[in-house]
Amino acid sequence: MKVGFYGHVRQYHNFKSEIDANIQEVLESGNYVMGPMLKRFERELAAYHGAQYAIGVGNGTDALWLSFLALGIGPGDECITTTNTFFATAEAIWVAGATAVFVDSDPRTHCIDPAKIEAAITPKTKAIVPVHLYGQCADMRAIRKIADRHKLLVVEDNAKAIGSSGDSFKTGELSDAMCVSFIIQKNLGCFGDGGAVVTNNAEVERLVRKLRNHGSDKRSCHSMGYNSRLDDIQAGVLSAKLKHIDEGNALRRKWAARYSACLKDASSFTLPFETPGYFHVYHLYVIETRQPAHRDRFLDFLTANGIDAKCHYPIAIHQQEGYPWGKGARIVGDSANSERNAASCISLPMFPELTAEEVDYVIGKVLEWDRTAGAR
Ligand SMILES: *Cc1c(COP(=O)(O)O)cnc(C)c1O
Repeated sequence: MKVGFYGHVRQYHNFKSEIDANIQEVLESGNYVMGPMLKRFERELAAYHGAQYAIGVGNGTDALWLSFLALGIGPGDECITTTNTFFATAEAIWVAGATAVFVDSDPRTHCIDPAKIEAAITPKTKAIVPVHLYGQCADMRAIRKIADRHKLLVVEDNAKAIGSSGDSFKTGELSDAMCVSFIIQKNLGCFGDGGAVVTNNAEVERLVRKLRNHGSDKRSCHSMGYNSRLDDIQAGVLSAKLKHIDEGNALRRKWAARYSACLKDASSFTLPFETPGYFHVYHLYVIETRQPAHRDRFLDFLTANGIDAKCHYPIAIHQQEGYPWGKGARIVGDSANSERNAASCISLPMFPELTAEEVDYVIGKVLEWDRTAGAR
């Protein structure tokens, strides 16, 4: 049996009539950029989050750096984030001209460890940028408390966890801006690139709207901005799929529960950790080999058995050769947890359109590894 890593085409077929109808509507309208479909989707996305505003932009990375710009974060300012994230979080800080200061991740959730944040705060610190890694929120209550104590901004990188929530908070509720990505592999994915900023701050809304459209909020009048618009065809795809995001996340949780129930007695790896009371939406289902040296052989074994597994992410940010240090960019403390995660993580197939047969096949092969090679 072959089990893929993504269900994009299956998902398209499941929602084909709604997606096709929206695309057709855009095509027939002649409004392809900044048209009514974008407005409709922005309204729906804000409502979904119970937020006042949502602004569509070109991608999740732009959502981050345009939020930084709108919040006045730039050269000379430091943003505290974690070494355990996708490269784009750090990239966006750099593109905004600000300085990234990294702290380690929590060894169980892999999100930023709030206990390590205060040691990284200096008079230059302007914002904390938590990432809701793998589909589970960072500890936003603790992060907001630290931010309030030190008068800092909070920008959520929620590229991976749309629809997730904490025990007493929703994503987007405790930050100044929340950034979402709609690249196809995310839980809510369009047919290309897309992103959005979700916020309750009217000034952030006004500025992101302006910045994404060549610094213009009035025809022919410009200040410096950029071109980063979410086009109407993608907005139509997203509007159709947003109606099904909760179903999709529920299916991800169902497959995750099946993996976890069947793999709980295996001894050669650890399972994903769910913070009590949090609603994890399993963008990824990541296990960690107890011995990092086993990881690559485990992956090869899965690949040889037709299972498309991957690593998210095998190289932590500070281990990337391409990371531009300088201008004060630094790590505070060590990054032992991020490094261990990078060396031992394996993402098993996880998407709503999996079948029970596929999940059980993956479970069977993972257990076979655990009994044989993993036991050595
Ligand atoms: C995907 C992702 C991004 C970037 O989103 P793009 O739409 O690809 O620009 C940023 N941060 C995290 C954590 C991501 O997973």
